[in-house]
Amino acid sequence: MSKTFLAVNFGCRVNSAETNQWSQTLINQGYISSTIHDLPSIILINTCSITKKGDLESLGKVRSLHQKYPKTKIYVTGCANLEKIKNIPNVFIFPNNKKEDLLKSLNSSYTPQIKDKFSHTNRFLLKVQSGCTQFCSYCIVPFKRPNLWSLEIEKAIETVKKAVIDGYQEIIITGVNIDEYQYNFSTLIKEILEKTDINLISFGSIPINCIDQKFINLFKSYPQRLSNFIHIPIQSGSDKILKLMNRPYITKDILEKFRNLTLEIGNLKFGTDIIVGFPTESDQDFQETLNLCQKIKFSKIHTFKYSPRPNTKARFIFENSPKISKETLKSRSQQIRQLISRKTLPSHQIPGK
Ligand code: SF4
Repeated sequence: MSKTFLAVNFGCRVNSAETNQWSQTLINQGYISSTIHDLPSIILINTCSITKKGDLESLGKVRSLHQKYPKTKIYVTGCANLEKIKNIPNVFIFPNNKKEDLLKSLNSSYTPQIKDKFSHTNRFLLKVQSGCTQFCSYCIVPFKRPNLWSLEIEKAIETVKKAVIDGYQEIIITGVNIDEYQYNFSTLIKEILEKTDINLISFGSIPINCIDQKFINLFKSYPQRLSNFIHIPIQSGSDKILKLMNRPYITKDILEKFRNLTLEIGNLKFGTDIIVGFPTESDQDFQETLNLCQKIKFSKIHTFKYSPRPNTKARFIFENSPKISKETLKSRSQQIRQLISRKTLPSHQIPGK
């Protein structure tokens, strides 16, 4: 009887790339991918904890799959609170640091036989960085992924060349915090463009501090080979809130970067992430965020309602401060969403003007 596995992924593209790596390793060992209806020989679950909801959903999946397949061994990794499921029979927890060591030792960054929602047949998901030490005050990730790792440029080129030979048309570059990519992000992209024949490079999420002149120049030199959609998470348009969030920029930097992108490269579309209801966010602070979003004219915005995460500075500092009401959170999320859904955005200027 053939050995089968079921891989379930939650959360970001980095998790997805790692689930692909793990799955590819099993395929290399003779396993075949099972569907949700078969009885799998083993199950892998890569969890997420970026929000409370993500944590609950991930652990709920572990419990429901254990109920459905009580005799199957379930290996669980990722950022969720794995302590909560450690006593379930046949469930084996694998903290992130062990997972990262395993993936490094397997050297399986190339995953040609994996197809998932991010990495379709002609799009290859390339993880180039992991770990974060920025400690944004609301974020649990630095506690879950404290070890910094970067893919060497030569290895990235080697992997992309293999992907091209196998018929991939596009690579998606992903990392936990690309700002901490240690070999210079713009140099990585330049080298991939110069030394491989990949048709298109697109990006997961690019921190604003990675947008330098070298990066902008690449769009001028390779206009057809770089995706014209860039996701740059700004989180807030209020300097007061950005400081409390411990984000490494102020609104002046945001406006300057978007102005440079807009003026120097035509035809770009932007996406971003916004957190609404960060503790002490006043109507004025929120209005500043709305104004900034209108100026930049994002074509896509992911809105998150702030939720306190374990161990984070914001949770500790604002433990006893007045909570922002659910109604206000809902209304602020809706107002951000309406910016995108409106057919005609308010007339806007070039950012920063
Ligand atoms: S940069 Fe900030 S938001 Fe992003 S993973 Fe690191 S701590 Fe979290």
